[in-house]
Amino acid sequence: MSIVTLIPGDGIGPEVTSAMRKVVEAAGADIQWEVAEAGAAQMDKYGTPLPQHVIDSIKKNKVAIKGPVTTPVGKGFRSINVQLRQSLDLYVNLRPVKSFKGLKSRYEDVDLVIVRENTEDLYAGIEHKIGDYGAESIKLITKPACKRIVEFAFDYAKKNNRKKVTAVHKANIMKLSDGLFLNTAREVAEENKNVEFDDLIVDAAAMNLVLNPEKYDVMVMPNLYGDILSDLCSGLVGGLGIIPGANIGKDYAVFEAVHGSAPQISGQNIANPTAEIQSAVMMLKYLGQTECAEKIENALAKVFEEGIVLTQDLGGTATTTEFTDKVISEIK
Ligand code: NAD
Repeated sequence: MSIVTLIPGDGIGPEVTSAMRKVVEAAGADIQWEVAEAGAAQMDKYGTPLPQHVIDSIKKNKVAIKGPVTTPVGKGFRSINVQLRQSLDLYVNLRPVKSFKGLKSRYEDVDLVIVRENTEDLYAGIEHKIGDYGAESIKLITKPACKRIVEFAFDYAKKNNRKKVTAVHKANIMKLSDGLFLNTAREVAEENKNVEFDDLIVDAAAMNLVLNPEKYDVMVMPNLYGDILSDLCSGLVGGLGIIPGANIGKDYAVFEAVHGSAPQISGQNIANPTAEIQSAVMMLKYLGQTECAEKIENALAKVFEEGIVLTQDLGGTATTTEFTDKVISEIK
């Protein structure tokens, strides 16, 4: 049995994590949940949105799954996600983007994986004001961080029978920082000649992904580009309600949907829980509970192929509960 830290989050977080939990339990997964709350609501009680006991719970259990949490924009506390990724050294953000057969979206044959560096770049949070005149953010790129993320991308490609790794960068302009990323990627590629390698400037990557997403396989990139391009890719296959994610480090892993807390639709029982459910599928595979993971994958595939019970974001009318019940009925 695996004990997993479950962080429900806020906004639509509690709705999608509750749906995920029901589906995982229906698939017979051997999991005991340890619920730990994080988010703005914890500020009054603990003086921080990410209390130490939440981090301790993940350190003890090694695996967590979380719902999205709201981050104040332009003010207030630092993103809990960034804090978690940095404090647990979750250096990989893995986001598989795959079309569901039958689901009407921009493209029907996308199957690519974004491997996003998760600890540095402009997200390192090193910024300061220059009086009232301006502000400065430091884009931190280090060789060890570049090396381990690109090595992860090649290992992932080999283990998952993928053919090509593409490094995405802006080394033509940021010759030192992105140049270091690109040169390190080239060095790692030299040691992995059995996997094809190429590179792409990030703006060209944005255009090419919209025009010919089927050309891409594993794409590895610094933090900011990964954040933006993975949302772009989610739009190719049905939107943010679909795409799962995993934050992986040497010792710990935290699984979560790519989407945020979607405050506009929270509390209405209309959020699409697929992304969170797919994140649980990734988690079950990580835990070695492959059979349960496949049961859920097959059930989701059937629901989308049938195309009758769909949430509003995919053009349907089903509530979160109705969609979840449908997935569970396909598992049983
Ligand atoms: P968002 O992902 O919450 O929403 C973007 C759009 O997608 C909205 O139209 C929303 O309604 C829709 N959407 C997202 N998830 C959906 C789902 N499951 N089903 C149906 N529709 C869905 O992005 P945002 O509005 O930029 O951010 C809202 C808050 O979430 C912010 O505070 C942001 O910081 C936070 N956020 C958290 C995480 C995380 O915890 N991992 C990730 C991204 C954003």
